Amino acid sequence: MSTPPVPEPAPPSFVFPTLGAELFDALRAAGPQRIVLQVPAGLVRTAHDLAARLREATGARVTVAARACFGACDFPSRDEAPKADAAVVLGHAPIPNVRVVRPTYFVEMRDPGGDPEALAATVAAGGLPTRLGLVASVQHLDLVPPLVAALERGGRTVRTGRGDRRLAYAAQALGCNYTGAESLAGEVDAFLFLGTGRFHPIGLAFAVDRPVWSLDPLQGRLDPPIDRASLVRQRQLTVAAVRDARRWGILVSSFAGQNRMATALALQERAQARGRDAELFVFDRLDPRDLEGRAIDAYVNTACPRIALDDGALYPRPLLTPPEFLMALGDLPLEPYRFDTYH
Ligand code: SF4
Repeated sequence: MSTPPVPEPAPPSFVFPTLGAELFDALRAAGPQRIVLQVPAGLVRTAHDLAARLREATGARVTVAARACFGACDFPSRDEAPKADAAVVLGHAPIPNVRVVRPTYFVEMRDPGGDPEALAATVAAGGLPTRLGLVASVQHLDLVPPLVAALERGGRTVRTGRGDRRLAYAAQALGCNYTGAESLAGEVDAFLFLGTGRFHPIGLAFAVDRPVWSLDPLQGRLDPPIDRASLVRQRQLTVAAVRDARRWGILVSSFAGQNRMATALALQERAQARGRDAELFVFDRLDPRDLEGRAIDAYVNTACPRIALDDGALYPRPLLTPPEFLMALGDLPLEPYRFDTYH
């Protein structure tokens, strides 16, 4: 009888707060010959300079991964950089339950800026509820403890949640997983998101049925909650519009941290049990043009949940998340709305 193969141990991941001496020392000690550098959209303009710094500091060959990257779930694959023996990934924390394909150096680009006392005063002036849950983007996590202390000195009760195995840190926001916040939802009256932009406030609003305020730590600006009811209503209307769809496409990504083939197969079975056709489509980075001209009535996307929620309008047919698909089949109720948490 043959014995099953023993899986190879995962290559190591390393975490650094900034792109600086500590990272360069570690890379010099490890001595990779070829490094692939991945930068998020906000650093694309400086990618060339960053690559030059890495090259100079380490003596390794450095290439820049040009494909747009949205998270630590889609670091450069073996096919994209077959000869790279190390990867430097900027702007993201590792996702603990996603296996990397080569030694990977995550540089979280932490920014310790922001005055906790001034920010707590801004929150007090904004009239937020007393019991708050605090969630932060990775870049601003270092400000969480002093901000919690300052808010509590002002009389507030502030909680942070730990989340599941997809989150590296307590209080961390990840666009597909707000389980830290969800674990607190029954104990707080509102959430405060510490960071910039609307991506996380929108995700949080889908995930927790509480008002989500946003605090920009560097500008000191406090934004009122977005209209959760309107976001959810839009999605429910999309679901209602495809309730009778016969031909479904189920989308599966090959990215290491976005591949939910088991979910896709389970959804396919569920669809067929309800008398629907359901075809699986595989891709790496989803492009709306790839779905044009197909005899499909609607799609369900098992890759990044934010594609359907944030970019659904770009697609030629309605695009649902897995829980929304179950709502369309009648297997889940429309209320309460369920965010597609990626575990
Ligand atoms: S699945 Fe989407 S939201 Fe989650 S880490 Fe990847 S890009 Fe970000």
